Amino acid sequence: MDTKEKGAQGVGPWASPQEVAAVPSMVRLPERRRDARYPTNDLAEIRILSDDCVRREATVLDVSRSGLKLELRTQLWTDAQVEVILPRQMVIFGAVRYCRRVEGMFQAGVLIHDVIDRQPTPPGHLHDDALALYLAGKGLTVPEVIRIKEHLPSCEACSVRLRTAQEIPFPARTRLFRHERTGT
Ligand SMILES: [Zn+2]
Repeated sequence: MDTKEKGAQGVGPWASPQEVAAVPSMVRLPERRRDARYPTNDLAEIRILSDDCVRREATVLDVSRSGLKLELRTQLWTDAQVEVILPRQMVIFGAVRYCRRVEGMFQAGVLIHDVIDRQPTPPGHLHDDALALYLAGKGLTVPEVIRIKEHLPSCEACSVRLRTAQEIPFPARTRLFRHERTGT
């Protein structure tokens, strides 16, 4: 098992299968939800570590707990080690799993190895708005999605909040998360 120490700024090391398995099964989300792809549209800078650190622009199309899907103009080689830089936010280290041409662009899957969060969230639970957008499947940035996916498996309270919200039919769910207004 990886015994790498947690960096002062890092959220990593990325949870190992043992750590994920250590969370009691009753609080674990269904596999499908836990590693669901969350669609995003964030601009990122890709640094290819083996290629004189050439930088390329890309768009992050979706995020799962284990990986990212990128869209870019040039091809990435399978197994290339890359840094996905979300300026001033987060640096994601990973390896290219595939790269294929799609409508004149290239789409590449990156398996996440580690994450450095440049704006670590203060300790505490997930915000209601963040959970609502997570359930809605749109509206969060890549760093926000990654922080949520990092938090949920290790926090029973937020996992229960998410599961409870999931069971409430839409649109009652939006009322649940909406801030209460006082007076009229
Ligand atoms: Zn929590």
